[in-house]
Amino acid sequence: MKIICKRCLLEDIDRDAYTEKLMEYIAAVPEDQRVDDEEYQRRLDECKGCDKLADGMCAVCGCYVQLRALKPASYCPGEIKRW
Ligand code: SF4
Repeated sequence: MKIICKRCLLEDIDRDAYTEKLMEYIAAVPEDQRVDDEEYQRRLDECKGCDKLADGMCAVCGCYVQLRALKPASYCPGEIKRW
């Protein structure tokens, strides 16, 4: 597996490994630091219907939406607050 480098450019990144690490991180967030499954899915459904979603990222803030939507204090940064 390629080591993930904070200072790498896109062409240097092993995208599969990066995505896998991100999903592992999301799965490891403790329950008391995440919204419940229903709210999480509701937020992601809103993102899926939003034209600002691109390649798993929000074009407004640059966050991975699956990570941003997980946190209870997070909110949609779009002009129309979808969640
Ligand atoms: S603007 Fe809001 S709904 Fe749209 S992708 Fe970003 S976080 Fe999701």
